[in-house]
Amino acid sequence: MQMGKQRAGRIEWRRLLLALPFAAVLAACSTVPEATRAPAPATPSEAATATAHVQQRRDWHFAADGVTFSNRLESARLNDVRRLGAGDYAVTIAPEIVPINPSPWYGFTVSAEAERPLRIEFRYRDGKARYWPKLSRDGKRWHAATPEQFAEGEQGTALTVDAGPQPLHVFAQPPIGIGAFADWGNALVERGVARRSVIGESERDRPLHMLALGNPDAREVLLVLGRQHPPETTGTQALMGFVDELAADSPLARDFRERTLVIVVPLLNPDGVVEGNWRGNINGQDLNRDWGPFTQSETRAVRDLLERELDDKGRRLAFAIDFHSTWSDVFYTVEEAPSRRPGGVLRRWIDDMQQRYPGRIRESASPSGNSAVFKNWAFRQYRAPTVTYEVGDKTGSEQLHELATFAADSVMRILLDATPPTGPAGAP
Ligand SMILES: [Zn+2]
Repeated sequence: MQMGKQRAGRIEWRRLLLALPFAAVLAACSTVPEATRAPAPATPSEAATATAHVQQRRDWHFAADGVTFSNRLESARLNDVRRLGAGDYAVTIAPEIVPINPSPWYGFTVSAEAERPLRIEFRYRDGKARYWPKLSRDGKRWHAATPEQFAEGEQGTALTVDAGPQPLHVFAQPPIGIGAFADWGNALVERGVARRSVIGESERDRPLHMLALGNPDAREVLLVLGRQHPPETTGTQALMGFVDELAADSPLARDFRERTLVIVVPLLNPDGVVEGNWRGNINGQDLNRDWGPFTQSETRAVRDLLERELDDKGRRLAFAIDFHSTWSDVFYTVEEAPSRRPGGVLRRWIDDMQQRYPGRIRESASPSGNSAVFKNWAFRQYRAPTVTYEVGDKTGSEQLHELATFAADSVMRILLDATPPTGPAGAP
């Protein structure tokens, strides 16, 4: 891309070149079937030598049109703005580090002193368009740009909007940030169904929260993990729907919570979410390639939590689910997991989901190998059923909620069935 040369001033190239052999490690959960990915490097510290670029928070004011762009809000990402002509602009969206999974997240506001139409061309550095723009006047109610507003042009994609004095929010997806997680967790805590604690801090010293549901003395643990990757907001919606169902005041959920401890770490990458990163944490590190190396405080916090709650207390990990988003719905599983075989917990759950939603969610299994993806590490460490649940980027809120609710009901039924209340835990 034509903006590529400008990168040189912001990235330490000598160090970056050292990291290039590890480009494959940064391949997406989003674009490459997991089975084809290269395993994590044996010496991952070398992959951390590229320097992450933190975007400058600022306004871009263009007096000729009375137009202002801004990235001074949470989850915003906007790296440059150029005026091409009257009412005609180009915005540059750049990743936090290269090489990177091409998931160009963006977010900014645009306003004009007097109502006027604007054309905004999107220019992505190190990536191509993935997210259809979502628009909002108040940052709360969102709608997708219409096909008339957003189209592929010769130089990329361009959005046409009516700008005015009230800033228009233009985001890759409706953002779900720190405040939304807090509100959601507060509601569960206030209902008395969840207990909240801090398990550690992010690399930028933000608290990493955990919610615990169910019986604190239970031997069985269901682990729910989310938002390792900042743009993956549909995964967060699914996680919230899933946990809400576990927390429901239904006979099934009450019975399940009586016999299980549910541990939820819903936001593992708060720094990346605040920064509007495409993939990594504040250091540009892909957290879902750090399970094993544990170079980052976020992954270490969960590793240590599991040591305390599982190893030290003699509990068993009954099931672990890590929510993500990608182009379509996929379950990534571990090929050698016994629970994938007929009669196993994971097989029954996936069969249940696929029978309920035929053709909707495919399973992609691969060997756990020495991969530093969470589910592979968790399988090797705890021999538990583990799954990465990739939710489609474009799956609508209502369908997400229905899928997540069914997924939770199914996992509760299967785990209750697999674990007699008085006997020892069954083999997975
Ligand atoms: Zn992901």
